[in-house]
Amino acid sequence: DTKRFAGKTALVTGAAGNIGLAVARRLAKEGSHVVLLDLDQAKLDDVAKGFAEHGVKVKTVVCDVTNYASVEEAVEYAEKTVGPIDFLFNNAGYQGAFAPVQDYPVEDFQRVVNIDLVGAFHVLRAVSRRMVERRSGSIVNTASMAGLQGPPNMAAYGSSKFGVVGLTQVASKDLAPHNIRVNGIAPALMGPGFMWDRQTELQAATNTQYFSTDPEKVKVEMVAGVPMRRLGDIEEIPGTVAFLLSEDSSYITGVTLPISGG
Ligand code: NAD
Repeated sequence: DTKRFAGKTALVTGAAGNIGLAVARRLAKEGSHVVLLDLDQAKLDDVAKGFAEHGVKVKTVVCDVTNYASVEEAVEYAEKTVGPIDFLFNNAGYQGAFAPVQDYPVEDFQRVVNIDLVGAFHVLRAVSRRMVERRSGSIVNTASMAGLQGPPNMAAYGSSKFGVVGLTQVASKDLAPHNIRVNGIAPALMGPGFMWDRQTELQAATNTQYFSTDPEKVKVEMVAGVPMRRLGDIEEIPGTVAFLLSEDSSYITGVTLPISGG
């Protein structure tokens, strides 16, 4: 069978994490070479082992997306060692603290905005300027449902992800004349796993009117707000990202698609 992404090159940020890894594997399975970018070489080496069966080129690159010079270097390395980047999955992120805005830790706010919004801009800039020269490319940014409906106690994350949704709309317009599409995904409650446990524990600890103070009850309360009445599985994300990167979505740009169970 022919693989629809054969010969393509994808750059995935946050690739040692749950969503980044799942998407990178899907792209590789469909024939794309992949460059896995994250903060930690040991973690990257570990996840890269899982790609051997796909028979594509796999490179890892350590980079902190908050540092533009480091991003430029990583993108340069990716293109030199693997090939011109056709697909960008701009996904590195950090959820931050949970506290009402009047108590939200100031340093953490800056850290979240730097990683989730400024970092996404850095990668988008460094990759898209190369795509512009080639008049070709497709980009998917990872936003969140927290970027479409402000959740309580998540001032930094919510506003950063609203920023990512805005960046996606602006970039889609700036890059449309260059034949480059930019879309986003907005996952909601994914689990089970570390992120789900962290989120429910920290929301419970805020002791605010929105949630119970018992993390187990918070889980029930959150799922009760989902029309499909269940968490999303990480494996429900890669197909949507692959669709948005592929020619199947050739007339779609600037959208952020919820993956949220309704
Ligand atoms: P994760 O923590 O497993 O993965 C995030 C990855 O980003 C980690 O491997 C981390 O090392 C990397 N990263 C963090 N800061 C970085 C930096 N400065 N430079 C480079 N890499 C950095 O979490 P995940 O669930 O896979 O999250 C991926 C994306 O999805 C994030 O943007 C997150 O905000 C978003 N998201 C996740 C959920 C969820 O429930 N899991 C829901 C909505 C949105």
